Amino acid sequence: MKLESKTLGILGGGQLGRMSAMAAARLGIKCVIFCPESNAPASHVAAHTFTAAYDDKKSLKAFANMVDVITYEFENIPVETITFLQKLKPVYPDDRLLAVAQDRGVEKKFLNDVGIETVSWSLFQSAKTLHAALQEKSETDFVLKTTRFGYDGKGQVSCHKDDDLKTIEKYWSTLNSKENILEDKVNFACEISVIIARDKLGQTATFGPILNEHKNHILHRSTIPAAIPDKTALSALKITEHLAEAVDLIGVMTLEMFVMPDGRLLANEIAPRTHNSGHWTIDACTVSQFEQHVRTVCGMPIAPPHRHSDAEMINLIGMDAKKLAKWLEMSGSCLHLYGKDDIKAGRKMGHVTVIKPFSRHLLDDR
Ligand code: AMP
Repeated sequence: MKLESKTLGILGGGQLGRMSAMAAARLGIKCVIFCPESNAPASHVAAHTFTAAYDDKKSLKAFANMVDVITYEFENIPVETITFLQKLKPVYPDDRLLAVAQDRGVEKKFLNDVGIETVSWSLFQSAKTLHAALQEKSETDFVLKTTRFGYDGKGQVSCHKDDDLKTIEKYWSTLNSKENILEDKVNFACEISVIIARDKLGQTATFGPILNEHKNHILHRSTIPAAIPDKTALSALKITEHLAEAVDLIGVMTLEMFVMPDGRLLANEIAPRTHNSGHWTIDACTVSQFEQHVRTVCGMPIAPPHRHSDAEMINLIGMDAKKLAKWLEMSGSCLHLYGKDDIKAGRKMGHVTVIKPFSRHLLDDR
C-alpha cells in the first residue's frame, strides 16, 4: 500500500519559497520551483526546478503537469501567468488577490471599499496634475509611490506641498512610472503586521500582531509579542480576519498596518503570501507561517499555531552575512541563511531569530 503524497509547485525562487519548500518537506510534500533565475535559493531545497520566464507557456505547462497544486512566493508574478495556470491546476491564492496586491491604487481602493481605513491617497498620471493638486492640499508632507513594483522603499519619494513644478518633475522621472500614488505622510507610533492563514473551509489562524522596525526602508527587526495595547492588537487581528474573508483567501496573507498615536490602525500594504515579519514562527511556534502556507494550499487543515516562546527576528542584510560569530555563539539564537552567493547592499541574506522565555499574552488565550 502506498502513502499518497502531493507535489506543490511554487512560482518564485527566493527565500520565502525556500522556507515553504523546507516546511513542505517536513510534511512529506515535494516542491517544484518555477523561476527565471538560475541557482535560486528555493531551488537548492526543491525536488525539481524549471528555470524559465513567467510567460514561457510551454515550460509553464510542463510545470503544471508535474504538480498537484500551485502557489507563488512573491507578488510580482504576472497575473496572466496565474490566470493561465489556473486553467491547468488549482492555484492559491487566486489571481484576484494577486491583482489587488500588485497595484497600490487598486489595493487602497479595495481596502477602503471593504471598510478598512488607510492613509488618505490619490492617483496621478502626470507631474503637472500632481503639482497642481499639491498646491490645494492642507497637509504639507506626502509620500509619492509608484503604483506597481515598489518594495523595501524602492519606488517611493517624500514630497511636499510647496515643492515647485521642476522638483515634482524630477521626482516623477526618478520614479519612472506612468501612474503614481500620493499618500499623506503620517506620523505613526509604530508599524505592525498580522499574518493570517485561511483554509478551504474558511478556518483561520493568525500570527501577531508583530512589531516591525525598519532601517533604510528595509525590515530590520520584528518582535513578538508587540508592545501595543490589547485593544489595538485585537482590532489588528479583526481587520486582518475581515480582509481574509473579503478576498476569500486560501493560503497565507499578510497585512501591514500603521498604529497611530491615538490607537487608530491604518492599513498600508497587503502581501498575498508569507512575510519577512513572520520568519520567527519557524523557531517560536509549533506550526510556522510556511507550514500554514503549505497546509492551506495543499488542502490540509490548519492548526492553531501554538507559540511557545517570545521572539525577536533580525534580518541579515548585505555584509551582515559576514558577521555571524555573535549569532553562532549566542544561546537562544536560531540562524537561517538563504544560500545566496553574492552579497549586495540591501540584499536579504538571512535572518536570526532570538528565542526568549514565553510571556503569556492576552491574545494567546483567544
Ligand atoms: P511601503 O513600501 O508602502 O511598505 O513603505 C515602506 C515604508 O515606508 C513603510 O514601512 C513605512 O515605514 C514608510 N511609509 C510608507 N508609506 C508611508 C506613509 N504614507 N506615511 C509615513 N510613512 C510611510
